[in-house]
Amino acid sequence: MRKVELYDTTLRDGAQSEGISYSVQDKLKIAQKLDFLGLDYIEGGWPGSNPKDMQFFKQVKKCRLKHAKVCAFGATTRPHLTPQKDANIKGLLKAETEVVTIFGKAWDLHVKEVLKASLDENLRMISSSIKYLKTKGRKVIFDAEHFFDGAKHNFDYALKTLATAEEAGADTVVLCETNGGMITSSLVRIIREVLPRLNVPLGIHTHNDCGMALANTIAAVEEGCQHIQGTINGYGERCGNADLIASIANLRLKLGIACIADSKLKKLTEVSHYVSEISNIRHKNNQPFVGESAFAHKGGVHINAMVKHPGTYEHIRPGLVGNRTRYLVSELSGRTSILLKAKELDLGLQKDALHTKKILKLLQGLEHQGYQFEAAEGSFELLMKKALKKYKKFFDLEGFRVIIEKTKNGKVTSEAAIKLRVNKIEEHTAAEGDGPVNALDTALRKALLEFYPALAKMRLTDFKVRVLDERAGTAAKVRVLIQSQDEQDSWGTVGVHENIIEASWQALVDSVEYKLLKDRK
Ligand SMILES: [Zn+2]
Repeated sequence: MRKVELYDTTLRDGAQSEGISYSVQDKLKIAQKLDFLGLDYIEGGWPGSNPKDMQFFKQVKKCRLKHAKVCAFGATTRPHLTPQKDANIKGLLKAETEVVTIFGKAWDLHVKEVLKASLDENLRMISSSIKYLKTKGRKVIFDAEHFFDGAKHNFDYALKTLATAEEAGADTVVLCETNGGMITSSLVRIIREVLPRLNVPLGIHTHNDCGMALANTIAAVEEGCQHIQGTINGYGERCGNADLIASIANLRLKLGIACIADSKLKKLTEVSHYVSEISNIRHKNNQPFVGESAFAHKGGVHINAMVKHPGTYEHIRPGLVGNRTRYLVSELSGRTSILLKAKELDLGLQKDALHTKKILKLLQGLEHQGYQFEAAEGSFELLMKKALKKYKKFFDLEGFRVIIEKTKNGKVTSEAAIKLRVNKIEEHTAAEGDGPVNALDTALRKALLEFYPALAKMRLTDFKVRVLDERAGTAAKVRVLIQSQDEQDSWGTVGVHENIIEASWQALVDSVEYKLLKDRK
């Protein structure tokens, strides 16, 4: 079986994402998870650029990674300087990694306008940097920055940069689609020109500015590239990099190319969620292969067909990547979807059983009141378990109070106090928050944390409020939908009431109970 090397740059290119800022601890956790998944290379950062990255290289050595090799990343030496004297190259060596990745300019425009160097000088910089790192015993990966744009404008020169890297002893030469502006057919045409002219293994590094990063990566592999660079979930500057998660799934499942072990393929969904959690970026529902909705079926026709044969609306068995089929529950699809849901949760429900009718009636009643369970599977699961008496309370509420105060100078504060009991032990806590719901959430978790420490691992990622039945003369109801996430999953819960705090409370309690119930399984 053909094999492709996987090179992750979540910790360097991915960290350039708007909204991402990793601490050294975050980076260490991600590196360990990527090693667990079985990636070949983990680019740790740019040791020359900041002290935080240097800290990472120091500490990652203690992690004893089993498979992945950590790489230090940096530029070639600067113009008219020997690598021995270049501070950046010194930093790369100081990181003490087995592998070093250096990028050099492959586009003549950049050499002339940005580096302000001659084209020959740029070749010297590439050559001397690689040769020097090789004499220091490093494996060297050369990233040819802007290679494809360079090839479009001055093919001979762009090719010369690659040949120079090969001659200098680079172990892999990576074609970088740095600006993300290439359509797949043009990219393929250039790769076909390059491939026969070099002997060194070629890699591909793409960006997603045209939404083509994944397609371009896969096409490059089909053309013969043996090494792919990307990030988990496609994080990265601007529109991001090629998503390694989907790349791996496609390589393994669609092209039959070896990369990670089959046993690890099932961990893709978990790893994707884990990295999203540490990155503090909400996991995308429609993310290919691993998103919450990637195998979710809603329409009655689809659901009926799926019951007859799972291949009818699914391109792969979701379990292969650690995901699962979901049937979205709404009053439209009725009894079938309840039965399917019960099957999914292993609740042993029969079609004509009293329980099924009871749940259906309960569901219809709640939907009439304004509840909606399509985006609140957590609440629906709790509802079924309650109806089937497969649920035990985790705590009893004695009462709560929320105070919002605004002072003359415009300062607004929120505070919540909660009294509850867990196994007859009474707990009384208070907490402040950015708003009343946040204060209530913080107080609830503070009260429960010593009984259920796992709650420290979950957090709310989204909060939505919708006003219902605006026509009614009486007070309008609101529906609150909360999305929560931990290191493995994300789930939705719902609450409905005339009072927004009470509606939020219902959704909060469901969210916490769902997490506790899930962990118990
Ligand atoms: Zn990049």
